[in-house]
Amino acid sequence: MWQAKTISQVRASVGALRGKIALVPTMGALHQGHLSLMRSARELADHVVVSIFVNPTQFGPEEDFAQYPRTLDADLQKCQAAGVTGVFLPGVAEIYPENQMSCQLNVRGIADTLEGVIRPGHFSGVCRVVAKLLNIVHPDIACFGQKDLQQLRLIEAMARDLCMVTEIIGLPTLRESDGLAMSSRHVYLSKNQRQRAVGLYRALMIGKDMIEKEGVFNVQVIEKAMAQELGVYDLQIDYAVVRDGRNLDLMTLIEPHLTPHLALLVAAKLGDVRLIDNVLLSL
Ligand code: AMP
Repeated sequence: MWQAKTISQVRASVGALRGKIALVPTMGALHQGHLSLMRSARELADHVVVSIFVNPTQFGPEEDFAQYPRTLDADLQKCQAAGVTGVFLPGVAEIYPENQMSCQLNVRGIADTLEGVIRPGHFSGVCRVVAKLLNIVHPDIACFGQKDLQQLRLIEAMARDLCMVTEIIGLPTLRESDGLAMSSRHVYLSKNQRQRAVGLYRALMIGKDMIEKEGVFNVQVIEKAMAQELGVYDLQIDYAVVRDGRNLDLMTLIEPHLTPHLALLVAAKLGDVRLIDNVLLSL
């Protein structure tokens, strides 16, 4: 498994590969969720390239960029074991040289709701780094987790809008045995917080059952029940919503013939740790 630290190194290494190439962008602190993306990528392509880059432009000034977990040696071992062909490990100056024009990318609409409201500038930072990584590596496909559904929909929209040649692939969320979606930020949780964190999944399951089993189609009623469930676990709610699964548009009434794909999304804080999760439903 090769390691490349510069743009020219990674381009040379990727250029020497034959066959279909998949890129899996990550911020490191790799867990089973990341590894499942790599395994799926391996099934879809001949070579998997993983990028590990904690991207400063997607963190707000009050957010955890400096504290974000960094576990490079363990990450490299995991990549090797997962059959990854090469890892791109750029430094901040390689991706954001000081003398470079700061090109901003904004995807209107999808970036202006939910995480985009709570984390101003976050999605512009995500688009910027993903566009750069795709232009640097030129993969045939790039794999992203549905765990970050709004990010996935945004990247799909950006790639479509800018006629990028890379195909964007969304892959399912890997969960702990109690349903909690795996996340690099779980290392911050105390034992008590870890137990309460399952409330995000429980809230999603309440909403899912209301729609699928009870036929409740009034969005306000479902969102209220999801928020109540988050409260049971003493989670500080940012949002608990039902949206159109394709573009995250607002809706008031579920009409299966008009919006057959739904997304239930929750975000909540436990102390200083903020967690997000979602499920997709097809009616
Ligand atoms: P991150 O390192 O948090 O930027 O995540 C890198 C990629 O892994 C993103 O596409 C995430 O959506 C994806 N990912 C994160 N957690 C999970 C999970 N539990 N299951 C599947 N994919 C995940």
